[in-house]
Amino acid sequence: AKRAGPGQARLFHERMAQPEKGRLVLEAALYHALVNHEFVLHYQPQVDLATGRITGVEALLRWQSPERGLVSPLEFIPLLEETGLIVPVGEWVLGEACRQSVKWAQAGHHDLRVAVNLSALQFQQPRLAESVAMVIQRSGADPRNIELEITENIAMNQEEEVLDTLQQLRDIGVSLAIDDFGTGYSSLSYLQQFPVNRLKIDQSFVRGPAAGSDLSIARAIVAMGTSLGLEVIAEGVETADQRSRLQECGCSEGQGYHFARPALPEDLAPALAQWR
Ligand code: C2E
Ligand code: CA
Ligand code: CA
Ligand code: CA
Repeated sequence: AKRAGPGQARLFHERMAQPEKGRLVLEAALYHALVNHEFVLHYQPQVDLATGRITGVEALLRWQSPERGLVSPLEFIPLLEETGLIVPVGEWVLGEACRQSVKWAQAGHHDLRVAVNLSALQFQQPRLAESVAMVIQRSGADPRNIELEITENIAMNQEEEVLDTLQQLRDIGVSLAIDDFGTGYSSLSYLQQFPVNRLKIDQSFVRGPAAGSDLSIARAIVAMGTSLGLEVIAEGVETADQRSRLQECGCSEGQGYHFARPALPEDLAPALAQWR
């Protein structure tokens, strides 16, 4: 093989050392994924703890890559956020979830809630509510069946625009949930002013070491939510024991592997059909 001169060798090493290179490749692949319809949504049931009824589903993004297989959002959402691609991807997610909501309504699930995650960057878009309204309207979905999940720190950002945006979203008819609740820094008095409908107890307070045997933090969140007139749902319910302890805490709904993993609509159909 031809030996590289010293200059060439250095260039080669610099390139390989550039972490951006891998990132650029991934970024290009993600853009390609959007254009070529490689994103798919899986849906995870949300269940009434007392009756087992499926009251809603959460839409969770997946990348079905021809080269990489099914890729978890944990691997690409941070990069979508950094590059701003989360805005068009997020718009696609909302539209797709709404179109699926219409299909479910046609199949007799007229009041199945479909929850969609909104990222911080989407939330900062100047006319978020207008764009949400437009996407929902185009799909023909009933806005009352659509819930938007925002994380605690977006919601609790002490800026007036945030409150305005939340109110505008409520005016469209969608409901709002605070995701990963308990991991941020919201205060009771602040929460009280918020036009939100639901708190989602973060998984760490339901399973794992921080949950504790008595689910004391989950219990406190349920008490707080209930006193504010909010619905409360626990995430990451993996066992029957967690389910019954959550019920003891007064928590009304749950989501987690104990009930069902995220799945394609066709795979959820049998479970849903029970509750039509
Ligand atoms: P998240 O919104 O907190 O979603 C819940 C995550 O927990 C999902 O991971 C779900 O599959 C997982 N999960 C549910 N039940 C259990 C359980 O019982 N045990 C365990 N160990 N895990 C459970 P997933 O689908 O990998 O999504 C990860 C995160 O990616 C989501 O966390 C959300 O922050 C983000 N994400 C997913 N889809 C979207 C999207 O369309 N837009 C935006 N902006 N973010 C999304
Ligand atoms: Ca979520
Ligand atoms: Ca969550
Ligand atoms: Ca999370």
